[in-house]
Amino acid sequence: MKKDGKIWIDGMDNALSDQSLSGHAIREQLASRDTVTVLPDVWVIKIGGQSIMDRGRAAVYPILEELVAAKKNGVNFILAAGGGTRARHVYSLGLDLNMPTGMLARLGASVPVQNARMLQILTAKHGGIMCYPEELEKLPFFLNAGCLPITSGMPPNEFWEKSQAEGLIPANRTDAGVYLMAEFLGAKGVLYIKDEDGLYTDDPKKNPDAEFIPETTASELLNNGQDDLIVERVVLEYMMRGDHIKKLQIVNGLKQGQITAALNGEDVGTIIRA
Ligand code: ADP
Ligand code: MG
Repeated sequence: MKKDGKIWIDGMDNALSDQSLSGHAIREQLASRDTVTVLPDVWVIKIGGQSIMDRGRAAVYPILEELVAAKKNGVNFILAAGGGTRARHVYSLGLDLNMPTGMLARLGASVPVQNARMLQILTAKHGGIMCYPEELEKLPFFLNAGCLPITSGMPPNEFWEKSQAEGLIPANRTDAGVYLMAEFLGAKGVLYIKDEDGLYTDDPKKNPDAEFIPETTASELLNNGQDDLIVERVVLEYMMRGDHIKKLQIVNGLKQGQITAALNGEDVGTIIRA
């Protein structure tokens, strides 16, 4: 059978069949945003690249000990790695060589994989297992087998990374990838392990007068004109559109006990709500 010159099957009509999918009216008509939660009991936890990994053993070992202890106490989580100083080096070199954003994103994606691989080796005896984007559907198997899935935090946009409003450095780096993974999974929560107590009014490493902010909202942060943040700015935008992850928490991994407290639901560090 044919309809409007197209090969058609009787009964194939549906609300979208003659739509461009760009029209406001049809999008609003189908605006229900109820979606399943894929892994609602699982945390997504990021270990910072520059903030933690680059500090080496002194920072990384105690954090992994705390995480493995949490796992033994029944906390289920996926561990994602940030990039850090080596990613910044390749961004600088790429910018000097006039690389486009998509290439910078591809280059920057290699470093968190290196960090994830080292985390996998360090946690192998506790079930650490590498999980690449194409293996995301195997997460239930890894978790049910008692493994500790380790991923790169970088979203796999690579050459398809969107142009940025400001400059060429990819806006979607590992904080964004971790948020988006947690949002897709409908995860229990998302936790960023970094090297400061949380968010301040300015970078506390550069401004000694910066004040600590224990709790705030994404919209307030996007609108208050604050120049620098402890999480990638796009994460705040995504949170405001998110269906599942309406809250994120940032803790200081250099202070023992903060990770455990956060995983126990305590309000340590900074909490940002949508
Ligand atoms: P990661 O390695 O986890 O990606 P980053 O180094 O990219 O971490 O970001 C964390 C760093 O952001 C902190 O170590 C801090 O020096 C800096 N920073 C910038 N602005 C702020 C702010 N407003 N509050 C807290 N930290 C900030
Ligand atoms: Mg960062």
